[in-house]
Amino acid sequence: MELKPGLSAFVTGGASGIGRALCIALAQKGVFVTVVDFSEERGKEVASLSQNENLKFHSGLKFPSAIFVRCDVSNKGEIAAAFENHLEVYGGLDICINCAGISTPAVFQKDQTDGSRTWRHAIDVNLVAVIDCTHRAIRIMEAAKRPGVVINIGSASGLYPMITDPIYSASKVTFLSNFRQMSFSFNSFTEKASLLLRVEETWGVVMFTRSLAPYKRKGIRINVLCPEFVRTDLAEKVDSKFIERMGGYVSMDTVIQGTFELISDESKAGSCLWVTNRRGLEYWPTPTEESKYLVVPSRLRTRFSSVVPSTVQIPQSFEKITVHTLNHNFRSATSIVRAPLRLPIKPNHVLLKIIYAGVNASDVNFSSGSYFSGSKQEISSRLPFDAGFEGVGLIAAVGDGVKNLKVGSPAAIMTFGAYAEFTMVPAKHILPVARPDPEVVAMLTSGLTASISLEKAAQMESGKIVLVTAAAGGTGQFAVQLAKLAGNKVVATCGGKDKAMLLRDLGVDRVIDYKEEVIKNVLKKEFPKGVDIVYESVGGEMFDLCFNALAVYGRMVVIGMISQYQGEHGWKPRNYTGLCEKLLAKSQTVAGFFLTQYTHLWQQHLDSLVHLFSVGKLKVAIDPKSFVGVQSVADAVEYLHSGKSVGKVVVCIDPSFSQQAAKL
Ligand code: NAP
Repeated sequence: MELKPGLSAFVTGGASGIGRALCIALAQKGVFVTVVDFSEERGKEVASLSQNENLKFHSGLKFPSAIFVRCDVSNKGEIAAAFENHLEVYGGLDICINCAGISTPAVFQKDQTDGSRTWRHAIDVNLVAVIDCTHRAIRIMEAAKRPGVVINIGSASGLYPMITDPIYSASKVTFLSNFRQMSFSFNSFTEKASLLLRVEETWGVVMFTRSLAPYKRKGIRINVLCPEFVRTDLAEKVDSKFIERMGGYVSMDTVIQGTFELISDESKAGSCLWVTNRRGLEYWPTPTEESKYLVVPSRLRTRFSSVVPSTVQIPQSFEKITVHTLNHNFRSATSIVRAPLRLPIKPNHVLLKIIYAGVNASDVNFSSGSYFSGSKQEISSRLPFDAGFEGVGLIAAVGDGVKNLKVGSPAAIMTFGAYAEFTMVPAKHILPVARPDPEVVAMLTSGLTASISLEKAAQMESGKIVLVTAAAGGTGQFAVQLAKLAGNKVVATCGGKDKAMLLRDLGVDRVIDYKEEVIKNVLKKEFPKGVDIVYESVGGEMFDLCFNALAVYGRMVVIGMISQYQGEHGWKPRNYTGLCEKLLAKSQTVAGFFLTQYTHLWQQHLDSLVHLFSVGKLKVAIDPKSFVGVQSVADAVEYLHSGKSVGKVVVCIDPSFSQQAAKL
C-alpha cells in the first residue's frame, strides 16, 4: 500500500512513545489519523500536531484531518465506539496500528491479588485489546472490500504460528522457558518479572499476527513489528546498562521506517519485523530457522508442475550438443551429435534422462573455451566437448556400487553435458530433487549463484540497500527476492516494461528501467549516501556506474559481465583505472564469485531455495518462450543474449514434457 494523502489510520496508544511518533509520521505523508489513547491531554496534543503536519496536503476539508478519541483499550465497548468514531469521520479504514501497551504494574511472583489490576489488566491491554482491534479492523476492511493493513506493535520476541487457530496460538504462553532465557540479563527481580510478562504478551501478539497471514488473499495484510528498546516511558524502567549491552536504543526513525515498510511492501503478510540497534531491520524467523519446523502441506508441494513417469525408456542412441570449434558465437561453435548409449553403466555412475536444461549467459564463454585454463592449443585439444551446465530429469539407470539413488527418481545435475537427451555422471554429482521441473532448473546455477554469493561474497545481513543489475534475468530474480527476504531495501535495474512489472511483483522497492530512466541520476538523487551491496552481472559501463554508487563500507559482488561476453572478438578483459584508490578511500570491497568454487554448499542452498519456493515465499519466473528439443538450444542461447528474456530461459529437452512447459 502506497502511503499517500487521503488514506486513514487508526492508532491505539497514539498519545505517547512509538504511537505518537507514528501518528505524526503518518500525518507527514498526508494520512488522516485517529489518535486513540487513555491520556486525553497528550492525545489531543498529538492530534493537533498531526493536523499541522497534514495542512500542506489538505485544504478546505469539511472534517478534521486528525482526531483524538479517548479510549481505554481494555474496555471492549470503548474500542467499538472508537472505531465507529473513526468511520464516521473518515468513512473507511486503511491502516490500523495497535500500539497501546503497558508494563505489568506488579511483580508477578509477589502479587497477592487476583490480578485484575495487575497481570490480567496487562494481558487485556497488551494482548486481548490487540486481538480485539485486529478483529474489528479486519471486519471493517472486509466489509468495505478494500485493501487494508494492520500493524501490531509487539516486542523483540517470536515463536511458531498456528494458522488454524490464531487465538490458541496467541494465548499459549511458556513462562518458565522464557523466564530462563531472559533472566541472565536483568539485575533485579522486579525487572525480570515485569519484562517477562511484557515479553509473554507480545509473544502472543507475534504468533497471533503471524497466524493471520492467509488474510492476504482478501487484500488485508496483518504484520507485527518487534522493536527492541526504544526510548519511551516503557523502556525507562529497564536498566540502562543492560540496554547499552544490547546495542543501545533503537532510534524512532528506524521504528517508523520498519512500520512503513510493513505497510507499503505488498509482499509482507503475517510478517514479523525484528528491529534492533545491533542488526537493523530483520525479518523473523529467518528462512533457515523456519525450515526447521515448517511442514509443507501437500497442497503446496504441487506448486511443482510436471508429472513424473514411473519408468524411463533407454534408447540405443541419443542426441547432444557438442562444441567442435572454440567460438563465442554458440551456434557456430556447436553442432548436434547422435551418440550411442552404451550399457552397462560404469560403476558408481548414473545415467540421467534430461527433461529440462537451463540456459546460461556463460554458455558462450564455455563454447569459446574461456572456462578452461591453459594455452589456446591446450584448450583446443579438448575438442569436441559436451555443452550445457545444468539440467533436471529422471535417473534412467545406475551402475554397480550406487546406493540410495533409485531408477525413476528425479534428480538434477550441474555438470557439463546437460544439453543432451541423456548424460552419464558420477553418482556423487547427482543432486536429488523433489520434481524434475523448470523451476528447479532455475534454482540450480541461477538460484544457487544468488543464494550462495549473497551469503558468502556479499556477507548480506539486513537493513541495507541492495542493488541488483540485470535483475529480471535468470539469477537476478533470485537475488532481489533473497535480499528482500533478508530484510533489505532492494533497488533493481532492468531494460523493459515487462521486466519492470516482474520485479515489482517480486517485491523490489525501486525498479529502475533503464529504457525509461537514467540509472545514474536515479541512484544519485534517491540514494545519495550510496548503496551497501551491489549484485553486479552486466559489467562494462554498468560496473563503473554501480561501483561509483557504492556507499562507504559497501560490498560489490562481481557475478559476471554479460555485456562483455560477445564483443566482436569475444570477451576482452577491461582495465579499471583508479579502482584501488577508490576502494581505499571508502573502505569498500569488490568481491568475485564463481559458483563452481562452492560445490560444498550446493545441496544445502538448493534445499533452502526449494523450501522457500514450496511454502510460497520465493517465486520463480520462467521465460514464457518455448524452446523444445536439443535443436532449439542455440536459439535459446541467442534469445538470452538478445536482452529480451524475462526470468529464466529453459529448454524442454524431451518434447513429451513440452505440453506441461507451455502451461507454466
Ligand atoms: P540473464 O540474467 O537471464 O541474462 C539476460 C539479461 O542480461 C537480459 O535480460 C538483460 O537484462 C541482460 N543482458 C543481456 N545481454 C546483455 C548485453 N549485451 N548487455 C547488457 N545486458 C545484457 O542471464 P544469467 O544466465 O542469469 O546470467 C546473468 C549474469 O550472471 C551473467 O553475467 C553471468 O555470467 C552471471 N553468472 C555468474 C555466475 C557465477 O558463478 N559467477 C553464475 C551464473 C550466472 P537487462 O537488459 O534487463 O539488464
